Amino acid sequence: MKYHIVPFGCQMNRSDAERVRTVLESMGFVEAADENDPQIAIKGIIACSVRQKAIDRVYGRILKWNKAKAEKPLITFVSGCVLPADKKKFLKLFDLVFPMDTLPELPQMIRDYGVAIPMNRNPPEGVDLQKEQLKTGGAAALALDSKNRIEEFWKLSPHYASDWEAYVPIQNGCDKFCTYCAVPYTRGREVSRPSQDILAEVHSLVEKGYKSITLLGQNVNSYGLDKKGEEKSFPQLMKAIGELGMESGKEFWVFFTSPHPRDITNELLEVMAAYPVLANWVHFPLQSGDDEVLERMNRRHSMERYREVMGDIRRILPGVSVFTDIIVGFSGETEEQFNHTVDAMREFCYDMAFIAQYSPRPGAKSADWPDDVPKAEKERRFHLLGDELTQAAAPRNLQRVGTIERVLVTGKDRKDGYYSGYTQGRIPVRVSAQGAQLGEFCDVEVVSARPLSIEGVPVHSGGREDGNA
Ligand code: SF4
Repeated sequence: MKYHIVPFGCQMNRSDAERVRTVLESMGFVEAADENDPQIAIKGIIACSVRQKAIDRVYGRILKWNKAKAEKPLITFVSGCVLPADKKKFLKLFDLVFPMDTLPELPQMIRDYGVAIPMNRNPPEGVDLQKEQLKTGGAAALALDSKNRIEEFWKLSPHYASDWEAYVPIQNGCDKFCTYCAVPYTRGREVSRPSQDILAEVHSLVEKGYKSITLLGQNVNSYGLDKKGEEKSFPQLMKAIGELGMESGKEFWVFFTSPHPRDITNELLEVMAAYPVLANWVHFPLQSGDDEVLERMNRRHSMERYREVMGDIRRILPGVSVFTDIIVGFSGETEEQFNHTVDAMREFCYDMAFIAQYSPRPGAKSADWPDDVPKAEKERRFHLLGDELTQAAAPRNLQRVGTIERVLVTGKDRKDGYYSGYTQGRIPVRVSAQGAQLGEFCDVEVVSARPLSIEGVPVHSGGREDGNA
């Protein structure tokens, strides 16, 4: 029998899906690549509550799946980032609704549920579906507190989606409560994963030959703050991974995302500078370049502080790539405040910016505030910032033409005869396939550049693989 999982949203959800795969495969289920495979007996969604659109997609999927149930038995489940209001509705639509940290109980939930799924998901009169779910799915797990549950969840070894790139969760939840974000309400407060488990997972990935490892958390660089005095701090964890890299003698790159500017310290940057496996890449979210907007977002740092940290990043990590996240059209954002974000974009010269048009996230504090920047104006600000980004990044990529870059080759490119990959600074690279190998590092001579990416030809000691000089 087969299963199919649909993860929506961020890398954390994709990483969670890898552990869901492990559990289902331990029960003898095999993954179906095609959602319409007739042998599928279990279908699940890892939901994302970042925007209403993402939740609407969950409803779209389950309504379709429930129609198919008239033809054959099927168990459906949903987990991931789910707000209490959606959970109530999901309980009427899905067979199983469970928080991710009760995943170790999934086999029992499925066994208790059985394969003879009732066609009609309207609960029989007098049956409280939520209580039923707790009886079947969560009884043992509920005996544990949420901190212990997430630690049990992390102990599951993931079924990695790739043989060369892996995500390693190091922390769950967030204590920052930015007003536009629902994560503290869907994933709860910060819990740091035990460092010895993280180091064991990284060690095993390195031994298996993984080349790119990304440490994941909602607020990754506040790692250890919830266990002060008993657990490593984030810089100490990074140092231990750096040492592990030196001892292994293997080449691999370690990234981390997403950090919060308040928790980036010089100690961390100095550790990054000291160990070659720690990538020369910093994801440094700006969100807004205006102090008043930052305050309304509850980011709890000023532009002065951001500028100071950016100075430290560029000083301690020469040649570093810096990526950012920006929201345009936040509740109450004036033209003048937006212009401060444009100024910041020009000043900080990011290599990449993930720009989002603000939309209220149900469950987040700002969802109660007016969404008062018109759609057309958000679009205008979005495109204007996008243009600023390409103008700032293009010259740096052009300067790379003619240089040699180390690249990890990660997939097939859309263009025939080419692979795609990235540098240690996460600059996307199109690599001519001749002389390159999927899942391996190679040196490429950069032959052309676009504003946000470069193209290269593999080189070896005798010259370029395409035979050109
Ligand atoms: S730091 Fe802010 S944006 Fe990031 S997960 Fe926490 S609350 Fe959300």
